[in-house]
Parts: sequence; structure tokens; C-alpha cells
Amino acid sequence: MSELERQSAALWAQDVEKVYGDATHALRGFSLQIPAGCFFGLLGPNGSGKSTLIGMISGLVRARAGFISVFGCDVVNQAPQARLQVGVAPQDVHLDRFLTTREVLEYHGRYFGMARLEAGRRADELLDAFDLTAKANAKPNRLSGGMRRRLLIARALVHRPRLLILDEPTAGVDLRLRRELWSYVRSLHQEHDTTVLLTTHYLEEAEELCERVGFIRDGELIDQGAVCELVERYGGGDLEDAYTEAMR
Ligand code: ADP
Repeated sequence: MSELERQSAALWAQDVEKVYGDATHALRGFSLQIPAGCFFGLLGPNGSGKSTLIGMISGLVRARAGFISVFGCDVVNQAPQARLQVGVAPQDVHLDRFLTTREVLEYHGRYFGMARLEAGRRADELLDAFDLTAKANAKPNRLSGGMRRRLLIARALVHRPRLLILDEPTAGVDLRLRRELWSYVRSLHQEHDTTVLLTTHYLEEAEELCERVGFIRDGELIDQGAVCELVERYGGGDLEDAYTEAMR
């Protein structure tokens, strides 16, 4: 790997190992490069290591070996710089019930070092982009499920990260809402050239949104490629067939 390649990749994970306790090998020699601007889907069953990887990218979990960089910033040795490059929309809806929608966004901006005025302006911009302006002063319990999901994505974007991680953004969401979220995410990617790392159990979601997809099983990346390449390689009709075959 050249330094130039590492600097320009949105994500560079190399030979990453993680063992919890003595026995649980969560990641094994895991390597993955995501080019800047790519919409990448990471697909694998529960327990395959996706959350561990996301925890490492966001600086919450330490690798035993290997390294990870985000736009050239090492997540361990340059943790503050790396953290600024990454926004994570978590799987579970954790929102402070005492804060309004606008405050959720504004406080997140303040946490990332924005001046009050700038954080407020950025909050308003995102409320508008995610059609939440009418709910700016509402508390999370007054938001619909779809609005709460949108707010989590908006919150992840407050500090303008170049890599957005969407961890099962539509888990348990009905098809209509899922399609609605897809259109927000798609326009975000197209209009702002944000690199996206998506994890999902919905194969049609990955097929719909992702340019490239990786399959992870037992902590190893077992294959990756453009959706059409994977479908062709495994001889199935769609991504679900390819995934099922790869995981066999
Ligand atoms: P996924 O997100 O794909 O479901 P995880 O990264 O959560 O996978 O888990 C990978 C493996 O690591 C699983 O066997 C899981 O039980 C284990 N694991 C995850 N987090 C911890 C933890 N904090 N302590 C111990 N084992 C863990």
C-alpha cells in the first residue's frame, strides 16, 4: 500500500484482529478499502463482526493488531482527527428525551467544537434537509418512527463528516418508511459526495443503494465487489442469491 493510496481512501482497514476476552475472535485478519465517494454495503449475519468494526472506526473499540485509517487519519494515533471524519447513525434509537429535535442537532455540533451560532445554523440546515423543521421544537417522543430515524442520520451529519456510517438504519421499519429513508440517503450521497458505509440485513436495501458490497462472516471479509459482479460470480439471480451462496 502506498501512502498516497492510504491518504485518499475513505476507509483503510488492514489485517485487523479483535479478540474479546480469551476466546471470542470477532475480527480475523480483516482488510477492507472503501474508495472516497463510494456507497459501500457490509453484509453479514449477526455476530459476524460488523459492530466491532464500526466501534473501531469510531474509536470506541481497540484492535489487537492491524490498523484502520479514515481519509488517511489513523483511528488510534490520530484519534481526534479521525473522529472528525466519521459520523455514525447508530442502530438503536437513543435520543435524549429532554432535548428538542433542534437541540439534539445543535448540541451535537457543540460537542464537535462548533461555535453556538454555527451549530444553530447547521441544525436548521439539517432540519430542512430532512424535513424536520416543523418538529424543530418537539421532543423525541413526539416524533414518528421515521422522523426519529431521520433525526439520527441528521445528527450523524452535523459536523460534516466525509464518511457516514449507517448501522442498520431501517431495522424493523416498514417498507414504505424504508423507501422514504432510502430517498434521503440516496440524495445525500449524490448531492454531497459523502462516502457511506451501510450495514443492513435487507438485501434489497443493499441492492438498491450500494455501489459495492462486502460479505463478512466470522470476522473475515469473504468477498466483495460491485453488486452485479457478485451476482454474476455466484451465479444467482440477485444479491440475495449471491449472499446465500457465499455464506454457505
Ligand atoms: P455483528 O455486529 O455483526 O452482529 P459483533 O461485532 O457485534 O457482530 O460481534 C462479533 C462477535 O464478538 C460476536 O461473537 C459477539 O458475541 C462478540 N462480541 C461483540 N461485542 C462483545 C463484547 N463487548 N464482549 C464480548 N464479546 C463481544
